[in-house]
Amino acid sequence: MEGTPKQPKNCSSLLEQLVAEAREAPLGGQVADYIPALAEVAAEHVGIAVVELDGTTHTAGDFDVCFSIQSISKIFGLALAMERAGDSLWERVRMEPSGQAFNSVVQLEWEHGIPRNPFINAGAIVVSDVLTSRYSASKSALIQYIRYLAGTESVHTNHEVWESEKEHGNRNAALAYLMKSFGNIEADVPAVLDHYFFQCSVEMNCLQLAQSLGFLANKGIQPGTEERICDARSAHRINALLSTSGMYDQSGEFAFTVGLPAKSGVGGGIVAVVPDYGVIAAWSPPLNRFGNPTRAVQMVTEFAQRLGLSVYH
Ligand code: GLN
Repeated sequence: MEGTPKQPKNCSSLLEQLVAEAREAPLGGQVADYIPALAEVAAEHVGIAVVELDGTTHTAGDFDVCFSIQSISKIFGLALAMERAGDSLWERVRMEPSGQAFNSVVQLEWEHGIPRNPFINAGAIVVSDVLTSRYSASKSALIQYIRYLAGTESVHTNHEVWESEKEHGNRNAALAYLMKSFGNIEADVPAVLDHYFFQCSVEMNCLQLAQSLGFLANKGIQPGTEERICDARSAHRINALLSTSGMYDQSGEFAFTVGLPAKSGVGGGIVAVVPDYGVIAAWSPPLNRFGNPTRAVQMVTEFAQRLGLSVYH
């Protein structure tokens, strides 16, 4: 039941236990294989990190191994675009769950090139257009922003993944050109896609991810530096979108069973925000049929349930 105080004891040993259980569990799916660089990642990796608002950190397993953050990058892009575009962004992308796969094209045609939300690919491509149009060097602005949030200069984009994303990016290109035909992409499509693929190809580890997103658990203020990253309303809105759309077509089930704003990526990562407590980041590459990392989701689920962290209590 809910109601456990959000100050878990023996948090580190719980994480060790969750990693051990995950390593014993079936892989739960296939590693993403749409590009060779992702297909080569060892399916056995399991890592988790929890960073609390007071800086207390708990880690286990491969928490310090970098992986492709893929769609988790959509959070960073969105936070930056919200700051740049203000409320006009919401005329170009909506805030509704899609009920479709993350890379689906059909809905976009019916809905005149306006994506359902910023966490499906079409929505993140609109966000990439905002950044491409409003920054002279949007890729550099984005990576600097992520480094600033993570508190380390060591965050990089994997160029092999970036090139590969471009080479195998026909579906994303289709989404972008379709939106351009409806007038919902301002910049040149190749430049927008280049930015989108660059941000998908950023590599981070669980600890860096949990550290970088603390501001979402803290009403927009980054714990540690106490810098305001966004206003409280923006943090609230990003969390609301994560709750309704961050886990794609499994978002309802995730809200039902876990009850935390969260975002996954096809690199096998997941981050979950626990308001007023901290951030959980977990990684295990094999994906279920929704494109969510089975064992990483399971670890976050267990952690949240055992500590009673659901926001819907
Ligand atoms: N690069 C992937 C794509 O654009 C990202 C999708 C994801 O992580 N769900 O298809």
